[in-house]
Amino acid sequence: MNNKLRTSIFKGLHLLGIRSALSLLQQNRKSTPIITFHRVHEVFDHLTQPINPIEFREIIRLFNQHYRIYPLSALLKPNFSDPEALFITVDDALSEFYDFMYPVFKEFEIPVTLFVPTQSVETGTQLWNYAVAEWFLSKETPTKLLMGKKELVIGNSLEDFLHLIGVISNDPTNLEENLKLTTIPDGKLTAPMTWSQIKEVQENGITIGSHFHRHVCLPSLDIESIRSEIEVSSHLLNKNLGSKPKFFAFPMGAFDQLAINCMDEIKAIGFSTENRRVNLPLDTFGSIPRFNISDRSYEEIDLRIFGFHNLVRR
Ligand SMILES: [Zn+2]
Repeated sequence: MNNKLRTSIFKGLHLLGIRSALSLLQQNRKSTPIITFHRVHEVFDHLTQPINPIEFREIIRLFNQHYRIYPLSALLKPNFSDPEALFITVDDALSEFYDFMYPVFKEFEIPVTLFVPTQSVETGTQLWNYAVAEWFLSKETPTKLLMGKKELVIGNSLEDFLHLIGVISNDPTNLEENLKLTTIPDGKLTAPMTWSQIKEVQENGITIGSHFHRHVCLPSLDIESIRSEIEVSSHLLNKNLGSKPKFFAFPMGAFDQLAINCMDEIKAIGFSTENRRVNLPLDTFGSIPRFNISDRSYEEIDLRIFGFHNLVRR
């Protein structure tokens, strides 16, 4: 569907009061949404779906008008309850957080948590999934890839891209070899933030969490490797920012029981991506669901948070 038409439809539904009706239908009125953003940029691509910076400011302005936005630490208060509460998080620590998102959060004085994948920041190199996206957008199609001993034929659709990401996410270490790339794209578009930028936003009220070290899919790792991901990431955050993280966002939103056990071991809180609201007070700290927000209007995001998309889809 055309984006303008889609936006108009959701604006119309919003005006019709669907939000209030859905709010009454909510089974547990105490449930609260936690949302997560990844990309905000003027240059659009259909794989990573950045939100336009002007639209992003409008989304945040309306969130600020219609919800009360709290820092994640409020989730830990045993008696916390507010039917209008909203929590905002951002994953991946791309330089566009510093350029486009942080100024808006500052303007509206909104508390936000930024989840940092530490290897990408430490080495100043592009996060592997964005490198794959840039490669995918520039490739000839269809392209044959040898992944280990398996040959994959990759077309140009979003499904092909997600499939490729799924295959690589188990071990992106040998990306250059896996993709038979002569060079990894330079990553100017989705470059990571620097430690000094992260320190600056932290000093101005942004909470910093860990997005693990290598940003790999945790269910593919054994418990020692997950522990190592946590230790290396915590060490780098402590060294560069002066404190160890309490909040962790699972890379690609994926987790298993081992990941939850590892969170318990260090008394940390893990966040996934599952498009579900959370019930307060929290009864579990191992895998707290968040709504992933990409290129959509405020009205559509708001209706999704109230369960509209669950009603109209299977
Ligand atoms: Zn991520």
